[in-house]
Amino acid sequence: MGILNKLLGKEKNGKKCECGDSAVSNGKYVADSPVAGFIPDLPVPPGGKIKIAIYWAAACGGCDISILDSDEKVLNIGTMADIVMWPIAADGKEKDIEAMDDGAITVSIISGAIRNSENEHMVKLLRQKSKLVIAYGTCACFGGTPALANLVNDANEVLKYVYTKTPTSADFQSQYAKSGAIIPQTSYQAPEGELTLPVVYDVVKSLDQVVDVDYFVPGCPPTQETITKLLDALVNFVYNNVALPPKGTIIGVENKTLCEECPRRKENRRIDKIHEPHEVDVDPELCLMDQGILCLGAATVAGCGAKCTRVGQPCRGCYGPSKVVQEQGASIFTAVASLFPVLEDDPTCDESKIIDIMSSIKDPLGYFYAFSMAKALIKAKVTEGGK
Ligand code: SF4
Ligand code: SF4
Ligand code: SF4
Repeated sequence: MGILNKLLGKEKNGKKCECGDSAVSNGKYVADSPVAGFIPDLPVPPGGKIKIAIYWAAACGGCDISILDSDEKVLNIGTMADIVMWPIAADGKEKDIEAMDDGAITVSIISGAIRNSENEHMVKLLRQKSKLVIAYGTCACFGGTPALANLVNDANEVLKYVYTKTPTSADFQSQYAKSGAIIPQTSYQAPEGELTLPVVYDVVKSLDQVVDVDYFVPGCPPTQETITKLLDALVNFVYNNVALPPKGTIIGVENKTLCEECPRRKENRRIDKIHEPHEVDVDPELCLMDQGILCLGAATVAGCGAKCTRVGQPCRGCYGPSKVVQEQGASIFTAVASLFPVLEDDPTCDESKIIDIMSSIKDPLGYFYAFSMAKALIKAKVTEGGK
């Protein structure tokens, strides 16, 4: 960590970084802000504003919205930093970033996975120009939902499906495609000159599979509490020289599983049928798995406060794997299988019954790897010939 602090021109002063409610008054950190994470009357940093870039690669925009949706806390970003790029909310062009010295940006907060040549170019450029890079949100941390395309592992197939088979595109094609399907091309010669689009890759990657990443902030999108922890760490560093967490820290998570922060009562009942939440009257206190509803809490790291299970929805695993789990999808798969009936307890149970239960899991790969496909041990569909 000393290296990061030196890189940023700040020597570690021995203070431990404490992410929590905080306030700065006259440049000094004080506890008990009236709004958690919001710092009233935050002055411009003594050494001048830092520079922040906020960028989205293959993202849905939800992560950007989560930053904007951080209420008053977003004002602290404006006071503490010059925002040099934020496509969803502020101006700032690629050429402006290119013109900067290497390391001129203090921190780049990047959401989204890397799925095309533009994503890759921009994150490499921002890495070059930034002292710190933060993977913000589950797509940047683990590939997220865009990485489910790795189950196809063929960009042309994905484009063909999206532009011809989905209801809106099929309708468009039937109206306008007179001589073969209209699929976006990387280059088009218009009368005014050549138009280009980025090249879509076969395999979607997480941010750290493309550039060096200093910190990870998971969540789809990260919760306000998680954003507060990130902002507190930055504010404490910028104003009070409080050391940043060690490089590689996953901000906002705890050293336990989501099941351990979920308030539901766990009875480890056997499952003989899989249900969707809307198919049953969900008991508000009993573990969802005990009710036959697939929940990824056992393989997911704690940190979100069990947002979904508290309102009767199963965890889909968006905060990523718990620390002891290497492979979130396989881990939850074995956790589910361990709840199936076994012969010793149920004489009516045989292999066909287990197969019936397994078959009732709709889209098992999509369910178990909804957020972590890029970080799975097998990161993409493997075809004959080794692709
Ligand atoms: S992590 Fe979720 S909210 Fe953020 S860009 Fe990906 S899909 Fe959208
Ligand atoms: S499996 Fe889901 S519902 Fe059950 S205790 Fe774990 S997080 Fe809660
Ligand atoms: S309960 Fe699971 S899916 Fe819901 S926010 Fe938390 S980690 Fe994400």
